[in-house]
Amino acid sequence: MSVGVWILGDQLGLNQAALGTLDDRVSQPVILIESLQQVRERPYHQQKLVLIWSAMRHFAAELRDSGYQVTYAKSEDFETPLKVWIQAHNITELRVMNPNNRPFLQLIQNLQLPCKLTLIANNQFLCRETEFKEWASSRKRLLMEDFYRVSRQRFQVLMKGNKPVGGKWNFDKENRQPPKGKLNTPPAIWFEPDGITQEAIAEVKSLSFPTYGDVEPFRWGVTRQQALQVLNNFIAQRLPTFGPYQDAMVTGEETMWHSLISPYLNIGLLHPLEVIQAAEIAGGEHDLDLNSVEGFIRQILGWREYIRGVYFYVDADYFQKNWFNHTRPLPEFFWDASKTDLNCLHQVLTQVESSGYAHHIQRLMILSNFGLIAGISPQELENWFHSAFIDAYDWVMQTNVLGMGLFADGGVLASKPYAASANYINKMSDYCRGCKYDRTVRSGENACPFNFFYWDFLARHREKLQAIGRMSFILANLDKMPPAELVTIRQKATEWDS
Ligand code: FAD
Ligand code: SF4
Repeated sequence: MSVGVWILGDQLGLNQAALGTLDDRVSQPVILIESLQQVRERPYHQQKLVLIWSAMRHFAAELRDSGYQVTYAKSEDFETPLKVWIQAHNITELRVMNPNNRPFLQLIQNLQLPCKLTLIANNQFLCRETEFKEWASSRKRLLMEDFYRVSRQRFQVLMKGNKPVGGKWNFDKENRQPPKGKLNTPPAIWFEPDGITQEAIAEVKSLSFPTYGDVEPFRWGVTRQQALQVLNNFIAQRLPTFGPYQDAMVTGEETMWHSLISPYLNIGLLHPLEVIQAAEIAGGEHDLDLNSVEGFIRQILGWREYIRGVYFYVDADYFQKNWFNHTRPLPEFFWDASKTDLNCLHQVLTQVESSGYAHHIQRLMILSNFGLIAGISPQELENWFHSAFIDAYDWVMQTNVLGMGLFADGGVLASKPYAASANYINKMSDYCRGCKYDRTVRSGENACPFNFFYWDFLARHREKLQAIGRMSFILANLDKMPPAELVTIRQKATEWDS
C-alpha cells in the first residue's frame, strides 16, 4: 500500500495533519496543484494570486528539503494531474486534510480517483468542528463572548486558576479611542519579492481573465520564516500599544497597530496557538498592558475560532441569506476606487486595490456598513470581499460579511446590525475632513450619503429592527425626526446614483 498526500494551497504548514510523521517522509509522495479553473472563479486580487502561488512554490521547495517526493502541478483542473500522479506512484490511498471550505470539500468528494480517499481532521484551528457543534448546540444564542471565555478556560490562556488574569474577561472599553495628535505608529515589516515571487508576479500580469487590484508593489511574506518575522515584529513593536487605537482610522496609516498576520494564519504559515502563546508570554515578560494583550488574544482565540466554528455550524445555504431583502447592485466604485467621491470609501478602497488589506474597522464600519445601510445585495458584496482581500476564504468571508457586516442572517452572529452614520466615521477617523460631503447634514444639499442612507435604513426596516432590543434607543431618535425631513431623506436614498 502506498499513501500519497495532496496539500491544498491554504494548508502550507509542515505540521499539517495529512503529512504524517517524520518517519514516513522519505518515501511519502506529496502533490501540490495550481488549478486555473479555481482562480477563474471570481476576479481575485492579483496580490492574492501571487501570495498563494509563491507560498505554495516555496512550501514545495521546503518539503523537498525535508525529504518528501514532491510533485508540483499546474493545470486547468485538479482531477487530471491527480490521476496521473496516483498512477505514476502506485498510490492506493490519497490523504487530504479537510478543507476549510464547504464547496471545496464537495469538489474533493466528487473527484473520480483511481484510489481510496481519506480526509484527515484539520488541525489549523484550536477548536474542531465537532467541539464547536457541541458548544453551540446547547445554546439559544451563539455569543462570541461565551465561546471565548470557555476557550480561555479550556486552553488556560490569560487565566489564574479559573479566574481571568486582571479580574475581567474583556477590556474593550479601553480599546475604542479615536485617533488624536501624531500617532507614531511602529512601522510594519514588508518584503522584497525574491525570484520565485517575481516569477509569480510575471505570470499574474499575463493572465487573460479578469482580476482585481494592483499586482505591484507586492510586499507580503511568502514563507513561514517571513510570517514569523511579521509575528515577531508585531509582538515586539505593536502589541504593547495594540489596544487603544484598535478601532481608529487615519488617512495614509493603512495598518495602524494591527498585526497583518491574517494572510499567513489563513494559509497555514502560522498556527493560532503559537500566536496566542507569543502574545501571552510577551505580555508577562514585559508587563504589557492587559487591554492590549487580552484585546489581541481575543481576536484569535475568540473571533477567529468562533467565525470558523459558526461557518461549519450553520446550514450550507447560509451564503444565500438576505434577511433585509437587500437588492441594490454593488456600485461600480467597489471595483474602481477612483469612481467614488465619498472620501472614506475612496481612501479604504484605494488601499484595498493597492495591497488587498484593510483593517477590521475599515472593513466593518466603512465598507460593509455602507453596504448594509445602502441596501446592497449581500451576495454581491460578499463576492466582492472574497475577491478583493488578501486573506479572504469561504470560512471567514460568509460569517464576517453576511453575518457580522450585513446582518443578512437575521442575528445568528451579531446582536444588532453594525449600522452607523457619518457621526461614527468622523469620531473614529480623519476621513470627513478631506471630504466634499458635509458630515453634519443628513437631508440638505451636500448631505453625507452615510447620513441619509443610515436614516433611510432605520425607517425602511423599522418593523424588523424594533424586535431587536438593542435598537430601541436608536429607533426613538428616528421617531423624533420631522416627517417632512424623513421624506426628503428617503427620497435622497432612493434616487442616489453612485
Ligand atoms: P488584527 O487586527 O491584528 O487581528 C489579529 C487577528 O485576529 C487577525 O489576523 C485575524 O486572524 C483574527 N481576527 C480578528 N477578527 C477576526 C474575525 N472577525 N474573523 C476572523 N479572524 C479574525 N479576516 C480574514 O482573515 N479574512 C477576511 O477575508 C476577512 N474579511 C472580513 C470582512 C469583514 C466585513 C469583516 C467585518 C471582517 C473580516 N475579517 C477577515 C476579520 C478581520 O477584519 C481581519 O482578520 C483582520 O482585519 C486582519 O488583519 P490583521 O491580521 O492585521 O488583524
Ligand atoms: Fe464619508 Fe460622509 Fe465623512 Fe465623507 S463626510 S468621509 S462620505 S462619512
